[in-house]
This record gives sequence, C-alpha cells and structure tokens, in this order.
Amino acid sequence: MNKRIIILGAGESGTGAALLAKAKGYDVFVSDFGTISDSFKEKLYNAHIQFEEGKHTEEKILNADTIIKSPGINPEVEIIKKAVAKNIKVIDELEFAYQFTKGKIIAITGTNGKSTTTMMTYHLLKEAALSVGLGGNIGKSMAAQLVDQDYDWWVLECSSFQIDGFVDFKPHIAVLLNITPDHLDRYHYKVENYVNAKFSLFKNQSEEDFAILVEGNQLINEALPKYNIEAEILNVGFTNQSLNAFADSSEIVINIEDKKHHFSQSLLPIKGRHNKINAMASILTAKLTKIKDDQIKESLPKFKSIQHRLESVGNIHGVEFINDSKATNVDAVYYALEAFSRPIIWIVGGVDKGNDYSQLDSVSGNVKAIICLGKDNDKIKKHFKDRCPIIEETQSMQEAVKIGYHLSKDREVVLLSPACASFDLFKNYEDRGNQFRLAFQLLEREIELK
Ligand code: ADP
Repeated sequence: MNKRIIILGAGESGTGAALLAKAKGYDVFVSDFGTISDSFKEKLYNAHIQFEEGKHTEEKILNADTIIKSPGINPEVEIIKKAVAKNIKVIDELEFAYQFTKGKIIAITGTNGKSTTTMMTYHLLKEAALSVGLGGNIGKSMAAQLVDQDYDWWVLECSSFQIDGFVDFKPHIAVLLNITPDHLDRYHYKVENYVNAKFSLFKNQSEEDFAILVEGNQLINEALPKYNIEAEILNVGFTNQSLNAFADSSEIVINIEDKKHHFSQSLLPIKGRHNKINAMASILTAKLTKIKDDQIKESLPKFKSIQHRLESVGNIHGVEFINDSKATNVDAVYYALEAFSRPIIWIVGGVDKGNDYSQLDSVSGNVKAIICLGKDNDKIKKHFKDRCPIIEETQSMQEAVKIGYHLSKDREVVLLSPACASFDLFKNYEDRGNQFRLAFQLLEREIELK
C-alpha cells in the first residue's frame, strides 16, 4: 500500500508538498483549517489531490504515516500533539523536498536579513550561470519546483519554524546572520528555545560542510560553546582582516583557502551596515561554490534591493521616501536608522511584539519627527516624548505620508520602518508597504497637478 501523507495547511509550501508527494506516488490528503485560496485549490484539483477546508478531520489525519505541517501551525495545537503521541512523523515541506534533490543546499537563517541574503546569494549564483533554485520562506516552494526540475544548488531561506520541522535536512552551506529575540510566543517565551531552533540548522552537517557565522552577536556568542558544530566554521565581520569575510569602509575581503579576494564597496547596490553583512555572507557563499571574482564583481552591482526592505520608492522635491515595511522588529529598525546620515521623518508603529525602544537611542539622533501609525502608540510616544521634538499620530497611511512630506525639507528622508507587526491596520507587511508606495504616488500626482 502507498504511504499516506497528510498535508496540514494548503499555502505555498503545503500545496507544493502535496504536488510533489502525489508525483512521487504517495497517497495524499490535504487539510486546511481555514479557507484554501482558489489558485491553490485549482492546483490540487488538477493533480487529483483530495482536500478539505474549514476543519481538520481527526480520523483521516491521525491515519497518516507522515504529516507535513505548514510552518505557521504551532506544533502545540491539539491535532499535532495527538499525531506525535501516535508516533506519526511531523515534518516541514523543506525536509520532505530535501529527500528528492541531488543538489547541494545553501540554507540561510537569522532573525533579520534572511530574504536579502538569500536573494543576493541566488543572484550571484544565477548570474554565474550555475544551475540554481530558490526556495524556502521565499517565492515558489522547493517541493513544487521539484515536481518538474532539480538544480545543482538550492538557495533556501529558512525560518526558525521551518527549521523546527527538520529531521535529516543537511545543508552543505548554512548561514546564521544574527539572533535577536523574536517569535517568543511560539517558544514558551524562552529565548534559548528560539536560539536552539536557529542552531538546529547545523545539526546534521559534517566536516565537508560549512557553517557561516556573523560575529558580534551576543546570543550567538553565548550559545556557540553549547553546540557541537561539525562543519567548518567561517566567520564574517568587521573586526579583523583574518576573518573569512571582512569589511572596512572601502572593501570586502574574502579570505578562504589561504587566499584573499578583494571586492570594492562601490560594487554594493544596497545601503546600510546590515547590507554589508548580508553581502559578505553572500559573496563568501558564492566563493565557496567556486564562482570567479570577476563574475561576482560584474553581477553584484546588478542586484536590486527587494521590495519592502529599505526600498526607495521615489523622490518629491528632493525628499526621498523609503519603504522598510519588513522591519517588524526593533533590531531591523536599528539598521535602517543607522543607514541614513540625513534627517529622518520616521513612520513607526503597529502591533508591538514586546519592543524595547531604548535599543534605538544610539541611532535615533537623526530622527527629526516621528509619525505614529498604529492602533496603540502609547509606548512609542512615552519613549520618544523627550527625545524627539515632533510626534504626530494617525491611523491612515495616506495621511502619514502627507504629514511626512509636509514636515520634511530637501534631502531629507521619509522612512516607513515600523518596528511592529502590521495586522492592526493592514493585511500583512506587504500590504503596508504597498499602501505606502501608493500613498507616495498619490501625493506625487497631487503635487504635480498643483
Ligand atoms: P528577513 O527575511 O529575515 O525578515 P529581510 O532581508 O527581509 O530579512 O529584512 C528584514 C528587515 O531587516 C528589513 O527591514 C531590513 O532592512 C533589515 N535587515 C536586513 N538585513 C539585516 C541584518 N543583517 N541585520 C539586521 N537587520 C537587517
């Protein structure tokens, strides 16, 4: 009899896993407690995969050999607890897809910078004409792609929730960018559980693999002695030339196999110290795949910053509007504020995830005005009332952008970098960023017509 796979959650990863499982001859059933979007339903229909929505039918689910769970489903929900008690294997889509690739895996994690580093690494490999796929927490699911095509390399963005569902998943190159407290509600409010999830990325690696770590992160430094990483550890940072990837104000130097490779900072198309870290990790990874220096030098400047991450949406009379909607925690905002030496009108707020705004005190000197955009702005107002001369409040993106423009002068920046989740006023961070762009465009038109 065919092995029975149950997929919980029919989003991008769940639907992809269902398609791959079906293509590999498993008996597949998909169950989603919410509603399944029409485009995913169509894919399931076309592949003759049965599904249910609005419920989880326990008898069916607990009859599985393996459950592939959407990373968004908390492992502590009743149905998963029952499955685990019955010794049913509960895994992630990437873990499932991993069994069907002959390619090598580059897995990238961290609290912040995953998408940027994943996209930049993918860009460098693709421009060098390597056979490379992109997946994980970004774009099309790896499983769905594997139905038709495998690649020599896979660049995968891995969230901690995905890593929690890894059993045998073994990256050849694993990158850990940083860890700051986040998602603690899923980790019993214990930061060590979250750190443990991140470090699990290295658990199956062996001597021939690489673990890339960024120096200077307190939680990583504290945790490192507790883990036995078998892969060769490569360090990235700013403190000394002997690191495997080092940056000063003029260049990035990659130092591997006793050879130094120099890349001018002028090649970097994206702003901020944090993006230097992301670029160092990406270039180091590209060098490990044996791409030539000249090829990297040619393709680096062509990398485009991704939407909603310090993305410049345009200028009105010399005032630049920056969309950093993906900055959903204080650490990401730290780097955004640090990236500008010009006065900033800062749009901030949303659903607070336990923010400590004092972490921004050393970088908020250029903030000349704050516009609070959220349902509950008390914490922001309280922290900044004696630090920032102008604090305004609104619950409309359009108004926030207008106020931002009216408070600004030539060469200043209106920065949306919320430090908070978006679901008080928006569908998600993309919706928030898109509304920012739209508000900018409307304002631009209004000013042109005057
Ligand atoms: P992730 O996928 O981990 O959320 P992104 O690349 O989408 O990371 O960036 C999310 C936010 O974090 C953005 O606001 C970005 O400016 C900021 N950021 C990017 N790279 C880093 C980094 N290395 N350290 C801290 N913040 C970063």
